[in-house]
This record gives sequence, structure tokens and C-alpha cells, in this order.
Amino acid sequence: MTETWLVTGGAGYIGAHVVRSLQAAGAEAVVIDDLSTGDLRRVEVPFVQADIADCELVADTLRRHRITGVVHLAADKQVEESMREPLTYYRRNVVNLMQLLTAMAQCEVDKLVFSSSAAVYGMVDSAQVREDHPTRPINPYGETKLVGEWLIRDQARATGLRYAALRYFNVAGTAAPELGDLGRTNLVPMVFDALARGEQPVIFGGQHPTPDGTCVRDFIHVQDLADAHVAAIAALDEPGAGHVFNVGCGRGYSVREVIEMVAEVSGRGITPRVGAARPGDPAMVVADTTHINATLGWRARHDLREMVNSAWRAQPRQLSAVRT
Ligand code: UDP
Repeated sequence: MTETWLVTGGAGYIGAHVVRSLQAAGAEAVVIDDLSTGDLRRVEVPFVQADIADCELVADTLRRHRITGVVHLAADKQVEESMREPLTYYRRNVVNLMQLLTAMAQCEVDKLVFSSSAAVYGMVDSAQVREDHPTRPINPYGETKLVGEWLIRDQARATGLRYAALRYFNVAGTAAPELGDLGRTNLVPMVFDALARGEQPVIFGGQHPTPDGTCVRDFIHVQDLADAHVAAIAALDEPGAGHVFNVGCGRGYSVREVIEMVAEVSGRGITPRVGAARPGDPAMVVADTTHINATLGWRARHDLREMVNSAWRAQPRQLSAVRT
């Protein structure tokens, strides 16, 4: 029988890609999303508009669609906002996860893929970070993701829930123009925005202890990230499965290198301005991907050029979509 997976946050940028990857792997998907940041135009599968806090409705959805397992992405993800509104982040990222786990336990749905983040690490003291690196998040967003991992681990110990927590690194690119990132809080979309306004992008800090003085991040194509969810689901067939995986490329690019790639791909002359460092930005966060490579046989296939190029090509379509 075909498996059906519930994707919470499936109207979002990453969630919509996960839905497509599930379908490509022969599974069916149902989306639940409160549309706080998601866009219904991305959803082409059965859809429930709801807040995950609504335990009864989530339980009803699990039963009605005979859900095999849940990919949980519905969450708030802006670091600066989380510092201003910690209660909102704990409520939406932690309390809502408790509600989801409650509904899953009630309905005996025992497989979960959880969207975690490299933000659980905080300041990293090694060139590449492994999953067993100390987790010392430096903002409420990262804290809520770490608490989420603990909650799931403890529930798994108590109930036999099988899970994989995926620590996303810096997600970019798009698999199709209509699925592009409509958010404007990450580096690549912010550079595009500056260009659209006829301005130069700003680099947050040029004195970091990195080769060119700008921060270094591990960028991962959203298509590769979505495929990692499908690979993680396959690992949940094993009883007692409980995994934490870094999902990145395992290679770092500096902010300046990313902006140079935007210049190359777009054909625009770009002279970024170096501004003040953003408070709480770690200098360098790059994944060690040995664990996911070895355990799931997954590795990233797309490079930075493909990420920037696909995101750039999605621009006009997205902008016209936003205007209508
Ligand atoms: N960044 C920047 N200028 C911008 C946006 C981001 O220099 O307009 C830098 C930011 O300081 C960080 C990197 O780009 O070092 C990635 O930032 P983003 O917010 O995309 O992700 P984060 O790594 O903070 O999760």
C-alpha cells in the first residue's frame, strides 16, 4: 500500500520541496499549514489549514488520511524575531510540537522526521561540526530547535516513536520557479533584494576570523535537503530508529564568495558594502556530513552555482506571483 506522509508547513518553501520529493519517491502527501508564512499556490495535494496547536484537528487528519508518519516543518525561523519574541517561539516551536506528539501518540503514528537546525550548535570551534559537537545555541530560535530534539528523543524512549532530526545548514536555491523562497531574511534573497532596489548588498562584518574576513556558511540546495527527508524516512523502517543528522554540503563558502557568485550568475556588477557584524553571528559553521553520508547513503548533489542560478531564475516569476 502507498504510504501517506503528513507534511506540516508543506505550503512553505522547504515543505513544498519535501512534498515533491515524497511524490517522486512514490509516496503520497497531505499538507497541514496555518499559512502564516506559507503560500497555498505551492500546494497541490490534500490540504488542511490549521495551527498544529489544534491537537484534535491534527489527530483527525492523521486518522482520516491513514497517515504513516509526519514530516514536521511548521515552525517560526527568524533568529532576530526570536530574540524579540521568545514566548512566541517557544509556543509555536515547542508547545506546538508537544501538541503534535500528543496527537501522534493518540493515533499511534510512530514515525517522525523533524526539521532541526544548525542553529542548535551556536558558536562552533572546529572547521567542520559533527553531530556530537556541544550544542550551545545563542538565540531562542536555536534553543527551541534543541528543546524540540530533546522532546522527541524522550517521547521516543517512552513510546517507541521512530525519528530523524535533520539539522539544516543554510538552505538556498529552488527546484522549480514556483517553489522559490519568498522570504527575505536570508543572504541570497537579501542580495537579490538589494539589487532590485538598485542598491549594493551589505556584508555583515568584514573582520571575522575567516580567510576573507566574512562569515563562512555551508549552503545546501533545497532539492538536496528535500531528498534527505526521503532518505531519512527510509531509515525509520528499523525499530528503535532515532537519528540526528547534519544536512549540508560539507563545504563552506564565505559571504563574499556567495555575493561574487550572484554577480557572476546575474551578470550584474556588485560592489558590496561592508557593514557592522550582526550580533550573535558565528564566524564559521560548516557541516561534517560523514554521519548522513554513511548511514543514509545521502549526499548533496548541487553546488553553489546551481543554488544561486536557480534562485535567480525564479525571481521574475516569483515577483509577478507576489503582485497578483
Ligand atoms: N549576511 C550578510 N548580509 C546580508 C544577509 C546575510 O552579510 O544581507 C550574512 C550573515 O551575517 C551570515 C550569512 O550571511 O553570516 C548567512 O546569513 P543568513 O541569515 O542567510 O543565515 P544564518 O547563517 O544566519 O542562519
